[in-house]
Formats: sequence, C-alpha cells, structure tokens
Amino acid sequence: MKEEVRNLTTQLAVIGSGIAGFAASIFAVRRNIAVAQIGNTGAVAYTTGYLDLLGKEDGSPAAVIDPWQALDTLAATQPDHPLAKIPAADIRRSFTEFTAFLGECGIAYGKPQDHNVTALTPAGTLKQTLCVPATMAAGPRAYAEKMPCVIIDFNGLKGFSGRQVAANLQDRWPGLTTERIGFPDMSHGEIYPEVMARALEVPATREKLADLLKKAAGEAQVIGLPAVLGMHRPDHVKAELERLTGLTIFEIPTMPPSVPGIRLREMFEQVLPEKGVTLIPQQKVTALSFDSGAATLCLCDSFGPIRLRAETVILATGRFLSGGLEAGLTGIREPLLDLPVTQPESRAHWYCDRYTDSRGHAIHRAGIEIDSSFRPLMTGGRPYSERLFAAGVILAHQDWIRGRSGAGIAIATAYKAVEAAERFLSSSSSS
Ligand SMILES: Cc1cc2nc3c(=O)[nH]c(=O)nc-3n(C[C@H](O)[C@H](O)[C@H](O)COP(=O)(O)OP(=O)(O)OC[C@H]3O[C@@H](n4cnc5c(N)ncnc54)[C@H](O)[C@@H]3O)c2cc1C
Repeated sequence: MKEEVRNLTTQLAVIGSGIAGFAASIFAVRRNIAVAQIGNTGAVAYTTGYLDLLGKEDGSPAAVIDPWQALDTLAATQPDHPLAKIPAADIRRSFTEFTAFLGECGIAYGKPQDHNVTALTPAGTLKQTLCVPATMAAGPRAYAEKMPCVIIDFNGLKGFSGRQVAANLQDRWPGLTTERIGFPDMSHGEIYPEVMARALEVPATREKLADLLKKAAGEAQVIGLPAVLGMHRPDHVKAELERLTGLTIFEIPTMPPSVPGIRLREMFEQVLPEKGVTLIPQQKVTALSFDSGAATLCLCDSFGPIRLRAETVILATGRFLSGGLEAGLTGIREPLLDLPVTQPESRAHWYCDRYTDSRGHAIHRAGIEIDSSFRPLMTGGRPYSERLFAAGVILAHQDWIRGRSGAGIAIATAYKAVEAAERFLSSSSSS
C-alpha cells in the first residue's frame, strides 16, 4: 500500500541538529518565526559542553586569552574566515542570547566575558573556552587559586582517569590529588557516564555517593568529578551533592560521547517543541528543491513520507562526521544540493605529509562559500537561492578544531543566518 504523504508548511526549515541547527531554531523561535527543524544524530553528543569562541590563533602555539582581540587579528590575517565576517558585537550577542536560553531551560552557563576561561579537558590538559556550564565553573576557579583539590574517579569507568588528570596538572597545581571510589550500586564491571548521570537523578543514589565523596575528599574542600551529575537537572544534582557533602564540586568533561553533550541534545529535543518548533529528530532530509514560491524538503519519519514547504531554509549539516560534506575519490561534495565546495585542488593536497604539521591540513578548511547574507554561492558568485542560508562548520575557510572555535562558528553564524532569513521573510511579506 502506498503511504500517504503528509504536507507541512513553515516559514523557516532548519536542516541539521548540531549546535548550529539548534542555535538557529532558538534564535528563530525567539523572533516569532515559525520553524521546523530536521536533523539526524550529530556531533552535539560528542561535545565537552564548553562553548569555544576562539582558543588558538593560526600559527601560534600560545593559547588565546582575549578572544575578542584575537578576532581582530583573525579579520586581518584570514578575512574569509566566517567569524571574520561578523561584527564582534553580534558574536557577543549571539553567545549571550544562546547561553541565556540554555539557562532558562535548565542548563545554566556562564555569560561570555572579556576573556577566555582556562578549563580542564578530559585528559587533564588545559584549554581556553568562552562559556562553561555552571556544573564545571568551580574547576577553573579552583585551578586559578590553586586550591587543595581531589579528583575523584570510579572503578569500572573508562575514558576518565583521575591519575591522568593529576599527573598532567601536578606541576602547575601542587595541591591536586586523586582518589578512586566505587559508584553506588554499580560496583562490578564496566560503568558508563550516561547511566551514572541518570542514576544521580535519584535522591537515594546522591545520598550514597555523598557519603563516599566526603570520605574521599579528606581535608580538601573542593572535588572534581567526571561529568556525570545528572542528565536533566544538572545544576540541581550538583547543588544537592554540595549540600549533602558540604564540599565545592565541579565536573570535568569525559571522552565522547559525553553527558554534557547528551544533556544539551535531550534538553533541546524536549524544550523546542514546547516553544512551538516542529522538531523532526533522527531523520535526514533526502531531497531539497526551490521554486519561486518556496523550498520543498522531502523526508520520512516513522509515520511515513513528509513534504515540507518552507519559505526559507538554513543549511546547518556540518562536515564529514555529520554528512554535510562527503569525501570521495574525485573530491569533496555537498550531497544535498551539490553546492560547489571550496577544497584543495586534488586529493594529494588534502593532507600535509606529517600528521602533526603545525600548518594544519587543507582538507579541514573545505566547505561552502557564502555571501554577506550567509547565502550559499554557486560557481560564479551568484546565490543558489534567495531563500537559502547556511550556518555552522559546513562553511569554508575555517579549521574549527585547530582554532578551538566549534561552538563559536556554529552559534554566531546561526545568529547571522537567522537575521538574514528574518529580513527576507519580512521583505517578502511586505511586497
Ligand atoms: C569530539 C568532539 C568534541 C567537541 N568539543 C567541543 C568543545 O569542547 N567546544 C566547542 O565549542 N565545540 C566542540 N565540538 C564541536 C561542536 O560539537 C560542533 O561539532 C560544532 O560546533 C559544529 O556544529 P554544526 O552544528 O555546524 O555541525 P554538526 O555538529 O556536525 O551538526 C550537523 C548536523 O546536521 C545533520 N545532518 C547532516 N545531513 C543532514 C540531512 N541531510 N538531513 C538532516 N540532518 C542532516 C547531522 O546529523 C548533524 O546533526 C566538538 C565536536 C566533537 C566532534
């Protein structure tokens, strides 16, 4: 039997459910734009939870302390970089609006400040980031003040080692020690951060863990834990553990997939439909076309095929990991619209000979071109469609891994893409 196609309409369709896609939906819904978002599982579950703006400058081994000043250097040295095309005031506004939304929805974040925060990585190295979840904020403070601190890890938990964190930081943080304990009711075999986080939503588990933490802390007043402090109410779980132990507690991200990323994804998936977004998660758009009246997106969910007519579209499909770009024998392509991809002239130029080459690898700067309204461009420089905009790491001329700028590119370009889509929607409704 042929399944009936469901027809939906919207003002804006967002394709992608990474940070760029979710940020675009948030900015749009706050501007009263009707949004439908479609996204396959993506990199958001891998993120540490830190929202980086700019942590490293190209060619310099030094960490960036003042990312706003570094944006000026970026504009001078890499004028094609997506962040170089956005006024700093807009970047700051985008972070402020995005983190305020996260806080209103139950995951508190520090506001963007004038300087980066020196934050702890899963391996116990340090990185520069702009905004840190409230559950992690006491870590950078304890490090800055070199407070006596115990890093706790757990029997059976892989991907997070207190000994490794302490070994990497001991020179700079002499009062740092480590203890290993059993997690309540999970003392045998391998244990997983996601399961631990969900277990800590239960008050009885928190009480048992609090007793163990008090003993492990010894004389220290501050303890660091892998990021497992609850899935849906992390700030509450942390506050409760602090109340029960009398200690200051902070989380350190674990290796991916990480609880802070899964927290964000689950929160978005719960909250955005409540705010009016038509969210179609875990699905891929299989075809996208444009005519003079609207865009048409084709996809399927578990109830059958869907045809979505959208006045505007934001493409936020990421890079290779998420399927926004595909690398093949003859080159790199954008699979949904076959947009031109700026890329090295041949496969032989994708990588430098040495993996650790300080210049980075050319393939990591591949992506699509946009105009000043964040519209993807065709060869020759014309926009593909006046209704199509793009955001996130699908954009060319940036290597977000080396620049420590993943969330920054995603959030700031989503802000500008929504601004441009809103302009188009209001001009087309008034004409
Ligand atoms: C291991 C790891 C650690 C990270 N740590 C940090 C960190 O500490 N700080 C930081 O700032 N950033 C970090 N990031 C980067 C961050 O998570 C994002 O990857 C980055 O911000 C890019 O976001 P994006 O939305 O542009 O792309 P992505 O996150 O790649 O999302 C693209 C989305 O598009 C979807 N998609 C693709 N094709 C289709 C289609 N046809 N139909 C529907 N959906 C489609 C994908 O499924 C995916 O959901 C990390 C990333 C990884 C992988």
